This record gives sequence, structure tokens and C-alpha cells, in this order.
Amino acid sequence: MCGIVGFVGNKKAAPVLLEGLQRLEYRGYDSAGIAVIKNGSIEIKKTIERISALKEATDNGQTVDGEIGIGHTRWATHGAPCKRNAHPHMGFKSRFAVVHNGIIENYIELKDELVALGVNFKSETDTEVVAHLMELYYEGDVFNALAKTISRLKGSYSLGIICREHPETLYAVRHFSPLIVGVGVGNNYIASDVTALVSHTKNVLYLEDGEIAVITANKVDLFTADGEKKEREPSFVSWSIDAAEKGGYDHFMMKEIKEQPDVIAKTFEPRIKDGKVFFEGLNLTDEKLKSINKIIITACGSAYHTGVVAKYVFEELLRIPTEVDLASEFRYRNPIVDEHTLVIIISQSGETADTLAALREAKNRGAHILSIVNVVGSSIAKASDDVIYTWAGPEIAVATTKAYSAQLIVLYLFGLYAAERLGSASSDTITAILSEIKQLPEKVKKLFEMEESIKKIAKKHHRMGSVFFIGRNIDYGVAMEGSLKLKEISYINSEAYAAGELKHGTISLIEEGRMVIALSAYDSLQDKMMSNIKEVKSRGAFVLATATEGNKAIEKEADQVLYLPKTHPLLLASVEVIPLQMLSYYIALYNGCDIDKPRNLAKSVTVE
Ligand code: GLU
Repeated sequence: MCGIVGFVGNKKAAPVLLEGLQRLEYRGYDSAGIAVIKNGSIEIKKTIERISALKEATDNGQTVDGEIGIGHTRWATHGAPCKRNAHPHMGFKSRFAVVHNGIIENYIELKDELVALGVNFKSETDTEVVAHLMELYYEGDVFNALAKTISRLKGSYSLGIICREHPETLYAVRHFSPLIVGVGVGNNYIASDVTALVSHTKNVLYLEDGEIAVITANKVDLFTADGEKKEREPSFVSWSIDAAEKGGYDHFMMKEIKEQPDVIAKTFEPRIKDGKVFFEGLNLTDEKLKSINKIIITACGSAYHTGVVAKYVFEELLRIPTEVDLASEFRYRNPIVDEHTLVIIISQSGETADTLAALREAKNRGAHILSIVNVVGSSIAKASDDVIYTWAGPEIAVATTKAYSAQLIVLYLFGLYAAERLGSASSDTITAILSEIKQLPEKVKKLFEMEESIKKIAKKHHRMGSVFFIGRNIDYGVAMEGSLKLKEISYINSEAYAAGELKHGTISLIEEGRMVIALSAYDSLQDKMMSNIKEVKSRGAFVLATATEGNKAIEKEADQVLYLPKTHPLLLASVEVIPLQMLSYYIALYNGCDIDKPRNLAKSVTVE
């Protein structure tokens, strides 16, 4: 979580830092701060409001002088979100300022040690120990102090550090939390991700775990903690600055919803050739694939929900038992994994801490790791045997939409690819599904025509107390995502239930006027859904249903129906999720919620 930026160059640092922080605000927004060196002293500005407040207070950074600085937008893990705990944190001699992403797991032990030496702590954060250790170990050489400091730290950390005695050098460290260096001409940068940098430079060095970057205006040097120099050429980032801006929409979330036809096309087009799915450079050989007797999909949040959908798809196409597990549970349950297990890891950012830990656990047990990630060069991508990228571009809204859709596409494609190699599905089935995949962008576009009617539903029902999403089979997988989307951004309590399970307890919560969103587009289970709808209707529920075009029968049971274009049943999630995303958006809007930055959440969950 949290966003880090840093700058050293030939212009004012504060405007660069504030612009970068604003682009990273989606990673955490409990508080923010910058530290800049001017005339041998460090000036710090903090706010517990949004970055815009800091911009206003400093005339977009123009009133803060100095050509080197660091900045941070926080997602609190240790200590309340307040000014005292906002980063940057200073060392006890006011010589060092530090920003940190992650958790210093042994901070209590280190803090006790420092307090015993007479150091006075000003915050409750774990981070502050880093600033004080730097002071303690500093004997004129910052690199040595840094190497010694990190040798004492346990946990995850990326750090940006400045020292008032060396106002020409910015220091950065990466250890299990993301950090990149942007290489410019006479200006160099650090940031948690590329969205903060693309307006300045597209040349990026991805730091590796354990690396230290020593950065001046004209030079970037990378070292191991032992001082060994590492040589690496910067990578070129293809994301454009437009992708990191709202482009006329009020919120990133709606912009990203509307990008889905494009994102879906971008994700499948390069992978379908001559009527077949093709993945470049996959290490999973046909022989290895044939030896697989179990698939485990592990992920968190919405990525986990794509896994739930994929379980239905894989079991149908591959006839290989497929488990889906939350990454935070998988790693702590002594999972049954061996060299015949294919573990599929799904993460938008590629930095999700729980998912990364699950990956390592599976790898240690011999599984082949295939990851599906959006961010090139991310930790999960690097640690996997195979990576298939979702070409979704940067996703800024905290609640995912386009990355979810792109993940689904990769999962379908992989299912078809494996089915072809294993001979587990007929070539007619594969061809039929591929042809439906190609039509998805148009079908999703068509769903946007529903926006006005969804807006009306949202307006009328936005005060709903709590909601149930019900569905069967893939409809159930989509129900989970619909429910999460709604609660994430509108703070309305909602539950997703397998429709047949409702009567085993939860139906007791149905009362007059309770909203039930009944996902009924999986045609072969239509009749079953109709019965479930009847059950909740007879107890007073208001039912909003989904159904495939032409299905008029459902109108007899549901109060309102959202019709979806017909597609292959295994691809249903890709169309059904769209109206649910728009519904959540408008309900949140009518409730006055901060759609792109919902309370307590952050985009890239880099802590466990
Ligand atoms: N653990 C640090 C804190 O609570 C950093 C959290 C973050 O990554 O934003 O301040």
C-alpha cells in the first residue's frame, strides 16, 4: 500500500512530488507529506487531508524551495491516520527524512533498543525506527548507514531517504515492497509505480528485492546491500499519460468501466492466431501440462472472484479438479501441492503481499506457477514460472473493473489453450467459444446502453439498507463480485449467496422491501432460479434480476429485469458484471461516496 515518490534534479522538487503523489493517491490516502532539502535543512509539509490540500497550501509546491525531496501518501498499518504518524519521518538529529511502504515487523524490539539509548519517538509508526537507525549508524557515509540499518530490519519495506548533509543524493531501497526508479535527463525519480512517472519519463529501472539505488540528478547506481554494483538497462514503459488521467470522466471508475471493450480486445487479440490460442514463450510444456492432475487458483478480492468463475470454466473444459483459495488462507493451511499441481496466481498489481506469499509457498512445494498480472516487471511476475499479462493499462480506481474483465479473458484463453493440448474439449467447442470471445467487446459496448436505466434504479434504491446477490454456477461467481463492488464503494452491506443455499439460513433476513439481485442468466439453471426468486418474493423482497435477451418468463417473477446479450454460458461473467459495476457506481454516487477512493481501502495491498 501507500505511494512513495522521490525526486532529484535541476528544478523544484515539491511540484514534482505533489503531482506524483496525486497520481499515487489511489494506493493509500490516510495522510500525506513531503520533505525537501533547502540550504542544508529539511523542510517537511504534511496533511491529513488529500494531496490537493497540500497543493493548495503550497501553491502547487511552488512555495517550497529545493531540488531534492521525497513524498508519501499513507495507508496506515501502525498508528492512527493522523499528522503525527504521516510520513516523512525524521531521525533524532533531523539529518535524515524517510518514507516507507510496508511493515517493519521487528520494530518493537528496535524501538525498545533506541528508547533505551535515549531516542525520543514522535509517532506510533513502525517506520520511525528506520529514520533513527540511520542517525545512529551514520558516520559520514550514508550508504554504510543504510546498509547497516537494513541489516537490522525484518519485514517488508521500500524506502526513500534523503540526508541534509548530502543534498545532491537520493537513496532508495526495495525489500518485498514495490519501488522503481525513473531515469530522466538531468532529473531522476523514484516511485511506487509507473503512474507517478509517465508524465516525466518512460525509462524505468525496476529495483529488485535487496537492492539499493543511489541517485543524483545525472546518475543512477544500483548496489546490493554489500556494496556490489549492479548493471541494468532501464526498461521502456508503454503506458501513456492519458491512461493515468480521467479523460473527461468524473471518476476513474467510470472511465475504466468504459475502457473494458478495448481492454478485452487488447487482451485476447494478440493471443488468437489462425483460430487457436497462442501464448508466447510459455514454459509450461505440453508434457508438463499432461502431468497436471490438479489446478489451484489463488488470489484475493476481485481477482479471487475471477478464480471462482474460472473453476467452472476449467472443470468444464479440462476435466481437471480445480480449487480456488484465498491467498491469505492458502499459505497457512498446509496445502496439498506437488509437481503435478498447476497453481494459477491472479493479481492486478502483481504486488499483492498475500498472493505473493501464497506463490512462494506453492513454489516451495514444487508446483508450476502461472501468474496472471497487469503490471509488467512486478514481484509476482518475476517470481513465477510463467506470466500471462492482462493488457488492461493502469487501473487507478480502487474498485477494480477493467482488470477483473481482463483477468477473465486470460483465464478463458488459458482454459481453451490447455483444452486443445489435452484434447479435453472438442475443436467445435473451442472454435465456438473463441468466436464468442471475439464478440465480447461489441456486447460489452451494447451493455453501456443500459446506463440510463441503471441510473434510474440506483436513484430510486440508493438508500437500500442491505442487499442480497444470489445466483447459481457462474451467476454465483458474478454475484460475489457484484456484492463486493457494491460494498466497497457505497458502504452498503451486501452478501452474495449461492441461490440454493439461501433457504438454509439466510432467508430469515428477507423482509418487506429487501433488495435481492437475482443473477439468472445461466440459462440451464433458469428454472431453479425462478423458484429461488419466488421464495424471496413471497417474503416481501424486491427482486432485480438479470437474464439473457429474449427470456420473457422471468418478468413474471422479478420486479425488474436487466437483459444481457446472449453469449456462450462459460463467458457469461464478462457481460453480467458490467451492469453490476454501473449499478454500484451510481448507488455510490447517489450516496455521495468517494467513488475512486473508498474509505479504509487501498489499491495495491502490499501488506499481509
Ligand atoms: N507501516 C507504515 C505506517 O503505518 C507504512 C504504511 C504504508 O505502507 O503506507 O506508517
